[in-house]
Amino acid sequence: MPVVPLQSLWSVTAPAGPACEALAGAWGAQAAVIGAGYTGLSAALHLAQAGREVVVLEAADIGAGASGSNGGQVIPGVKHDPDTLEQMFGADAGARAVATVAAGPDLVFELIARHGLRCDAVRTGWIQPAASEAALLQLAARVEQWRRRGAAVELLSREQVQRLTGSGRYCGGLLDRRGGTVQPLSYVRGLAEAVGRCGGRIFTRSPALKLTRTAGTWSIETPRGSLTAPLVIIATNAYTGAVTDELRRTVVAVPSFQVATAPIPATLRQAILPEGQAASDTRRLLRYFRLDASGRLVMGSRGTFAPVPGARAVRQHYRAVHEIYPQLEGVAFEYHWGGLVAMTRDHLPHLHEPAPGLLAGLGYNGRGVAMATVMGRLLALRALGTPAAELGFPVTPLRPMPLHALSGIGARATIQYLRLADALARSPTLGSRGPA
Ligand SMILES: Cc1cc2nc3c(=O)[nH]c(=O)nc-3n(C[C@H](O)[C@H](O)[C@H](O)COP(=O)(O)OP(=O)(O)OC[C@H]3O[C@@H](n4cnc5c(N)ncnc54)[C@H](O)[C@@H]3O)c2cc1C
Repeated sequence: MPVVPLQSLWSVTAPAGPACEALAGAWGAQAAVIGAGYTGLSAALHLAQAGREVVVLEAADIGAGASGSNGGQVIPGVKHDPDTLEQMFGADAGARAVATVAAGPDLVFELIARHGLRCDAVRTGWIQPAASEAALLQLAARVEQWRRRGAAVELLSREQVQRLTGSGRYCGGLLDRRGGTVQPLSYVRGLAEAVGRCGGRIFTRSPALKLTRTAGTWSIETPRGSLTAPLVIIATNAYTGAVTDELRRTVVAVPSFQVATAPIPATLRQAILPEGQAASDTRRLLRYFRLDASGRLVMGSRGTFAPVPGARAVRQHYRAVHEIYPQLEGVAFEYHWGGLVAMTRDHLPHLHEPAPGLLAGLGYNGRGVAMATVMGRLLALRALGTPAAELGFPVTPLRPMPLHALSGIGARATIQYLRLADALARSPTLGSRGPA
C-alpha cells in the first residue's frame, strides 16, 4: 500500500493560532514560562487570570511539541489506579491526588467553555477496550475502585464494546463517562489565544538558551533577547533540552505516531464509534483511536524510533487499523505524523521545585491532555503562593535517571519486548489475524 507524505491532520484542520513574534531586546515579567504546550499555557492562563504579568517563551511554535500532535483523547486519571495512588502517597495525600487527577477532564472542558475555545470538544466518554481476558479482570477492579469514589465509570461486555467501537476485536472494556476528545492543536492554540486575551504575552521562535539566577531573579537568554523574572516555570516535557539537563534526565522521550484515514463513508461510519467516544486499548503497546470532526479514523501507537516514521512503520499502523477495523480495508489513508511522549520511571507525572522561584511539571506518560492542563494550573497556584502541601499533588525532588544516555536503547528494547509480549498474549477471543 502506498504511504502518503508526512503531514499532520491537526495542522491541516486547526484554526490559525495567535500571531506571535520572537523575543527581541530585554524584557521583564512577574513570571516566565518556558514551553507553549498545555502545561505552559495552562500555567500562563491561570497566572494571567490572577492578574500576574506573564511571558511565555516557545522554542518553535505554539503546540510544536506533543500538545499539537497528540491523539486529543481527554483521559481521566493517570496510569495508576486510585487505590495504588493512595498506597503510594498515603491515605490523605493519596485521596487528594486521586481527586486532582480525576478532575482533569472537568478542567479541560471548563476552560474550553469559559474561554470559548474552538476545538471540536466532545464529551461522550473514553473507552478502554480489553485486549485479553486477563486485562478485562484488571479493568473490573479499576471500575470498582472508581465507582467506590462516585465516578461515572462502568464495565462493558464484549457486545457493548462491539456496539460502541464497531470492532469485534475486544473481549469487553471500561467506559469512563468523564472523558472525551478535542482537536489537540486547536485546543492548544485556543489556550494561547486565551492567554493573550487575559494579558499574557507569548513569544515564539524564542528558545531559552541559558537560565541563570542572580540576586533572587532569574534571567533567560534567547537568541535575540533576554527575559528576567523572579519566577520561572519550565514546561518543556519530552522536549526538555540541555538548558535544564537534570530535568531532562528525569524522563525518557518515546516517539508515538498516528495515521488518519479519509472520512469514512456513511454506510460504514454508522457502526464505528457511533457515540463519538475515544478509545485506548489495554495492550502493552497500546493502540488509541477516535474519529475526528469529519469522520476520519485517527489511530496511534508507539513503535518507531526514527525521528520521522519510515514507510515500514507507517504500513504497520495501516495494518493495525485493519486488524481492529477490517471493514476499513479499501478506505484511503491521508495523514501520518508523530511526537514525543515523556515517560517516567514510576509512571507518574511530576511537579518539581528544584530551586527557589523555579518550578517544573512534566512526565504525563501519554495522558497529558487533561493532566498537563491540571499541572499547569497547579504550577500557577504554587507560583501564586499556595503551600506545596496544599496543591493536591505532591512536589517531589528531581531524580535524574542513572545512565540516562542509555535510556533510548533501553526504551527500544522494551518496545521490542512489549510487541512480542502482545503477540504472545494473543487470545482466541481476539481472533487470529495478528497480534492482539
Ligand atoms: C503522538 C502522541 C499522542 C498522544 N496522545 C495523547 C492522548 O490522546 N491523550 C493524552 O492525554 N495525552 C496524549 N499524549 C501526551 C500529551 O500530548 C502530552 O502529555 C502533552 O501534550 C504534554 O504537554 P506539555 O505542554 O507538557 O508539553 P509539550 O506540548 O511537548 O510542549 C513542550 C514545549 O516546550 C518547547 N520547548 C522545549 N525546549 C524549549 C526551550 N529551551 N525554550 C523554549 N521552548 C522550549 C517545545 O518546543 C514544546 O512546544 C500524546 C503524545 C504524543 C506525542
